Amino acid sequence: MAGLREAARYNKRAFALWWRLDPQIFLSAASSCAVRAAAPYIGMYFTARLIDELAGGRDPAVLLRLTLALLLASAAAGLAGALCGRWKEAVQAGRDYVMAKNYFEKLLHMDFRDVDDPEIHGLYALIRQNANWAGWGLPRVQEQFENLITALTRITGSVALSVGLFTSRVRPDSGLAWLNHPLSLAVMLLILLTAAVLSPALYNRGQAYWARSGEAARLGNRIFSFYTYAAIRERGRGLDIRTYRQDRLFDRKYEENIDTGFTEKSEMAGYARGPMGLYKAASEAVSRLFTGCVYLFACLKAYGGAFGVGAVTQYIAAVTALAGGVAKCLQALGDMGNNGEYLKPVFRFLDTPNRMYQGSLTTEKRSDRRYSIEFEDVSFRYPGSEAYALRHVNMRFTVGRRLAVVGQNGSGKTTFIKLLCRLYDPTEGRILLNGIDIRKYRYDEYLDLFSVVFQDFKLLALPLGQNVAAAVDYDRERAARCLELAGFGERLEKMPEGLETCLYKDFDKGGVEISGGEAQKIALARALYKDAPFIVLDEPTAALDPVAEAEVYSSFNSILGDKTAVYISHRLSSCRFCDEILVFDGGGIVQQGNHDALLAEEGKYRELWNAQAQYYSDRT
Ligand code: ADP
Repeated sequence: MAGLREAARYNKRAFALWWRLDPQIFLSAASSCAVRAAAPYIGMYFTARLIDELAGGRDPAVLLRLTLALLLASAAAGLAGALCGRWKEAVQAGRDYVMAKNYFEKLLHMDFRDVDDPEIHGLYALIRQNANWAGWGLPRVQEQFENLITALTRITGSVALSVGLFTSRVRPDSGLAWLNHPLSLAVMLLILLTAAVLSPALYNRGQAYWARSGEAARLGNRIFSFYTYAAIRERGRGLDIRTYRQDRLFDRKYEENIDTGFTEKSEMAGYARGPMGLYKAASEAVSRLFTGCVYLFACLKAYGGAFGVGAVTQYIAAVTALAGGVAKCLQALGDMGNNGEYLKPVFRFLDTPNRMYQGSLTTEKRSDRRYSIEFEDVSFRYPGSEAYALRHVNMRFTVGRRLAVVGQNGSGKTTFIKLLCRLYDPTEGRILLNGIDIRKYRYDEYLDLFSVVFQDFKLLALPLGQNVAAAVDYDRERAARCLELAGFGERLEKMPEGLETCLYKDFDKGGVEISGGEAQKIALARALYKDAPFIVLDEPTAALDPVAEAEVYSSFNSILGDKTAVYISHRLSSCRFCDEILVFDGGGIVQQGNHDALLAEEGKYRELWNAQAQYYSDRT
C-alpha cells in the first residue's frame, strides 16, 4: 500500500512537472485522445438505428436522415480527431527537447561538486537508460495519461450506449422472462466486472516482469549500446579498437553478460516465453470468454423481444468496449504504479539540493583590475574522500603578476585551481577576494572574473568565431585579434570562410578538422576574448609543437597584458619568465619564489628541474 501511495505521489509530481514545462502536452493529448476514442460510438449508435430501421419500418425518409446524420457526425468527428491529432503531434515533436532541457538546466545549476560526483552521473545515466529502454520515467507519465483519457472516454461512451441492454425488458410471454429478474442482471454485471478486473490484472502481472528484469536489462542496455554503437563511433576509440583488436574483448564481454538482455537467452526472453507470455495469454482468454457471455445475453434478450437487431449490435459493441475501457484504465493505473520505481531516480536527481552558499555581494567592476586574492590556510578534501587533496595552503596573488604553479602529478595543482574558481568550497580555511570571503559574492559575478583554459577543455562543432566569443553576435575584429595573439593567425587566414568556418564536420560538411595544438590555440583565444582580470591556464602549451610553444611563450607578456595570470605547467623551463612560482608537493605549497631563487635553494624545484634538464639540456 505504501508503495502504491508513493507511486501515486511520484506520478502526481511528474504530472505537475510536465504541466509546468508545457501544459499543451496534456491539453493536446487529452483532446486528441478523447475525440478519437469517442468517434466509434457515433458509428455504433447510428448503425444500430439504421439496422433497426432496415429490419423494421424501412421508411426511406428516415433511412436518408439517419444515413446523412451518420455521415455528418462521422466526418465531423474524423476532422476534429485529425486536427487535435495534428496539434498533439506538433507539441510532442518538441517534447524530448523540453525534457532534455529540464535535465540540462538542472545539471547546469547544480553545485559543481555534484556534477563531478559519480553517484549523480550514475543517476542521470540511469534516468536516460530507463527512458531509452521503454520510455520509463517521465515519458511514461504522458503515455499513461493518454491511455487514461482514452479509457475514461470509452467507459463513458460505453455506459451511455449499453444502459438499454440492462434496462430493456423481454416479453413476459417469451419464455425468457427470467432474464428480467434482478438476479440475472446481477450475474451479468458480476461477469462484466470480473472480466474487466481479471483480464487487466493478469495482463499487469505479465507486464510486471519488465520491471523485474529492469536491473539486468539496464546493464544489458549499457553493454549493448556501448559495445555496438558508442565505442565504435567515438573518434579516439576507433583507432585503439583496430590497433589492439579490442573487438575480441567486446565479444567476450557481450557473451559474459548474455543473461542481461538482447539475446534469446536473456532473462527477459525467458520471461516472455514463460510466465509473462502465459499471463498475457490468460488475460486475452478471459476477455474473449466474457465477450461470448455478452453475445449470449444480448441475443437471448433480443430473442425475447426486449429490443431489435440493431440494438443487439450496439449493445454487444458497447459492452465489449466497456470491458476494454475498464481494462485499459486499470492497465494504465497499474503501469503508473510500476512507473513509480522509475520516477524515483528522476526526482532524486531533480531534487539534488544546492548546498553551496550563494552570496549576494557584487564584485565591483574595477577598471583598474585591482583585484587581490588570498588563500588563508586552505585545506580541502574531495567529497567522500578521506585524504586531503590540499593542506594548509597560504598564498596571495599580486595583481598583474604572472604566477606559475608546478609540481608532480597528483600534487594538488588542479584542485588549487578548482578552489580558486569556486568549483568547490574549501573544507577548512578561506579564500578572500579583496579581503572578503569569496562565498559572500554572487557566484556568477565571481566566475566572471576568470578566464580558464582547463586541460580537458572542449570546443564546439560551431563556427570558429562563435567558439572564441561564446556568442552568436560578436566583435569580429576582437575575435580575430585574440586568435592571432594565441598563434592561430596564419591558420585563420587559410580557413575557407575565416571566422565563419565551422569546426569539425558533425553539423557541417564544410567543417574543418583541427589538430590538438590548433584546438589549444583556439581555447587560449577564447580565454583572451573573455578578457577577465584573471586568466588561468592549465598546461597551456601541452599540445603545441616546440616552435609554437616558443612563440607563445615569447609573446606571453604582451598576450596577457594587465591580466593576472596563473598557469600550471609541467615544463619548468616555461615558468622562467614568471614573477613567482608556487611549488606543490603532496597537497601543499613547499616552495615559493622566482626561478633563480628557487634553483639556488635545495628543494623540490631543483629536484624537478634537474630531472627535466636531462631532456631539455638545450634550454637550461
Ligand atoms: P594535479 O593537478 O597536481 O595532478 P590534482 O589536484 O588533480 O593534482 O589531485 C590532487 C589529489 O586529489 C590527488 O591525490 C587526486 O587523486 C585527488 N583527486 C583529484 N580529483 C579528485 C576527485 N574528483 N575526487 C577525489 N579525489 C580527487
